[in-house]
Amino acid sequence: MRLTVIGTGYLGATHAACMAELGHEVLGVDVDPDKVAALQAGRVPFHEPGLPELIARHTASGRLRFTTDYAEAGAFGDVHFVCVGTPQLKGSEGADLTYVDSAFAAVAEHAAPGALVVGKSTVPVGTAGRLARAHGRVEVAWNPEFLREGFAVEDTLRPDRLVFGVRSERAETILREVYASVLAAGTPLVAADFPTAELVKTAANAFLATKISFINAMAELCEAAGGDVGVLAEAIGHDDRIGRKFLRAGVGFGGGCLPKDIRAFAHRADELGVSLAFLREVDAINMRRRDKVVELARELCGGSVLGARIAVLGAAFKPDSDDIRDSPALNVAARLRLDGADVTVYDPEAMDNARKAFPLLGYALSAEEALGGADLVLHLTEWPQFREIDPERARSLVSRPRIVDGRGVLDADRWTAAGWRFWALGRPAPV
Ligand code: NAD
Repeated sequence: MRLTVIGTGYLGATHAACMAELGHEVLGVDVDPDKVAALQAGRVPFHEPGLPELIARHTASGRLRFTTDYAEAGAFGDVHFVCVGTPQLKGSEGADLTYVDSAFAAVAEHAAPGALVVGKSTVPVGTAGRLARAHGRVEVAWNPEFLREGFAVEDTLRPDRLVFGVRSERAETILREVYASVLAAGTPLVAADFPTAELVKTAANAFLATKISFINAMAELCEAAGGDVGVLAEAIGHDDRIGRKFLRAGVGFGGGCLPKDIRAFAHRADELGVSLAFLREVDAINMRRRDKVVELARELCGGSVLGARIAVLGAAFKPDSDDIRDSPALNVAARLRLDGADVTVYDPEAMDNARKAFPLLGYALSAEEALGGADLVLHLTEWPQFREIDPERARSLVSRPRIVDGRGVLDADRWTAAGWRFWALGRPAPV
């Protein structure tokens, strides 16, 4: 089939490459000419494992192309996927739908009459219906996306499930054809009406955010009561109604999705006269964990971080990504810098993005360089390579061997045995 993918950021570039991998002819469309030029040259302007190989392979074969031209896209595609951003509106919790609205308007103007235009962006419930009313020339469907950055290719080629929000058998049949090989592999399909399909995505994100904040609230309690949230999480996780995933206490979630999605969800619920006020508490618990790391750093530096050398391991909001949108690591690093600390950050992939967004922070070319002369080390993004750091060697580099594990994954016994004082959120302080 001939597909277009409108918006070629994290989601769209991955979707375009994976659709080519499934055998379709794909044209990616973006308003950013630099992004289009990079992708057309077979280069991915962000870090996503496995994606550069797919983009290079399919741009070379000609099955995948990129353009800024909507007229070309309209003439090319039978099905158009809209993957543009839906960031948080400035000064509001709500989602900014201007990119979605303009992408739908542009594609509806240029597409063949009756073409299927499929939204993949995460939107407030009611958006698909509104767009269908506004653009009667084309048929609208919604196919929310659940990929995780760092696993985006795998999640697109082998998703847990597909959700189609459709208003006609024709739309469902076309989408079944697009995803024929994914469905043939046994992937469950949920076909739903528009509001349900839109809500599935925001409900899934709200559930995941709630699970993370739940364990982080338990970490706060453990800190107050002298308990150990690691042991607590393991014990409750053995109950398979609860499960062990997403129960690791730490500095909390960030990124371009969960924080803005739960805010937009609570905001939209208010508009509909339904209270999702608990999501505001989920958000507040999450943000308090960043405060906790800042306070702990201050306390460990004798009440003020002024002049203290602090090494921050991690800048991306999660490992295997260079995405720094609403990154807890950089939020903490920037606040400590504002308080007068001499902060040095190292991240395996996100250094360029971090430098652009936070030019006043110090940056090192390696974890070892960041550790050099540090009074305190903060481990804030769970890159596997940080787990491989040898505490003995690290001890020889720092000025004072003190580390806060903000992700709850480092081996406390190993670090302690090597002479470090080791703190983790929600766990007893070292004696
Ligand atoms: P992004 O900012 O990386 O990419 C958005 C792209 O859209 C940019 O390249 C931008 O230039 C382009 N764009 C903006 N307006 C356009 C227009 N009118 N026409 C063509 N292109 C336009 O964002 P993202 O992370 O890929 O997220 C996109 C959507 O997918 C959001 O709604 C997000 O919530 C959702 N989503 C993202 C992920 C993820 O992990 N990143 C996962 C699931 C869902």
